[in-house]
This record gives sequence, structure tokens and C-alpha cells, in this order.
Amino acid sequence: MRNQHPVPNSPSAVFRAALVEMAGAAPRLPCGSPPGQNVLMSELLEPVREGHCTCRLVRYRIRGNPLFVHCCHCRWCQRETGAAFALNALIETSRLELLSGQVERVATPSNSGKGQQIVRCNVCRIALWSHYAGAGPVLSFVRVGTLEDPDSAPPDIHIFTSSKQPWVVLPGGIPAVPEYYDRNQYWPPASLERRKVMLAGTA
Ligand SMILES: [Zn+2]
Ligand SMILES: [Zn+2]
Repeated sequence: MRNQHPVPNSPSAVFRAALVEMAGAAPRLPCGSPPGQNVLMSELLEPVREGHCTCRLVRYRIRGNPLFVHCCHCRWCQRETGAAFALNALIETSRLELLSGQVERVATPSNSGKGQQIVRCNVCRIALWSHYAGAGPVLSFVRVGTLEDPDSAPPDIHIFTSSKQPWVVLPGGIPAVPEYYDRNQYWPPASLERRKVMLAGTA
């Protein structure tokens, strides 16, 4: 809709920046880049996804693909969603930009016992993303259902399947583990590299 040069059958959230550039329009600067700052071509080519809360006051954007997407079947996620599982897209917080509205962080107990910060719209209170104790605020677990195109971030792994609700039938071909997992075993090398940069504080 916001794309001035719509391409039939093109996923709305993907490669928008690249399409605008290919169409000869002025490319949009990536998140947070002040005008005049050098922009890497690789950044322009990254997919961009946007999302919002239910009242739509809070809108956000994530730049680049998620590092990994969890489908979590733990009882905690079931309780928080009121459903069978939670879908979280893990992405560096530096790639997440708040476009409008105001959020609040709510300290919430978590499965690990270390707690999590759930970031919610301060009007409709919908949960948009979380920070967990492990990596802390530099890593965001974005609630996939709040993306404008939630279909664009399917799970890379099913976790805590030991408490999966029995009617949920998992698809073949996607890793599924009874509890948590070793990221070195499952994450793509590029995501592991991005994580290193993130933890070094340079992302
Ligand atoms: Zn809201
Ligand atoms: Zn969970």
C-alpha cells in the first residue's frame, strides 16, 4: 500500500526498499539513519517488516530477517497467549525501530525464573516484543502475530514440545525439541555471526 510501485504478488513486507530503489525512486534510508549518512547497499537490500499493536498507536519496523524464529509450546507461553503456543522472531534490538506510539516495559515472570521484560503498547497493552535475561535488552523476541505480514516469519524450530497441546500436529522438516536447544546446532552461520556482533555491542 505504501509502495508507490506495487509489484503483483510481491510480499508487501519484503524487499520494499529494494523495489523502491529499482523503480528509480529515492531509496528510503534504513531505520535511524540521519539524512546524509552513508548507507550500505547491503542494508538497502535487506527485507523490512512492519508491525503494530491492536489500537495501532504503536507501530514498529524490523530491518533484516530474524536471527531465528521460535514456536514455543511451553506452558508459560500458553498462559501468556491464552493459546497453544507463542511465535517469537528473534532480532537484534538495534534492528527494531519504534515508528509511533509509546510502549511500556512490564516485568513478568518467565519459565527460567529470571524474568522477562514484555514491551506493550501503553494504551491497548498488547504485547509487541520481549527481552529475556539471557541476552538482555540487545535482543528482542518480536511477537510474530503483531507483524503486518505474520506469514513472513514461520517457525525455524519448535521448542518445549514436551508440553505441546496434544491436538497440535507439528509439520515435518522443521526441528522440534522437547525443551530448549543448542543454538550452535540449529542457527544458520550468518545468524550466529550477527549474534556475536550484537553481544560485542557493535550491532
Ligand atoms: Zn495499542
Ligand atoms: Zn515459551
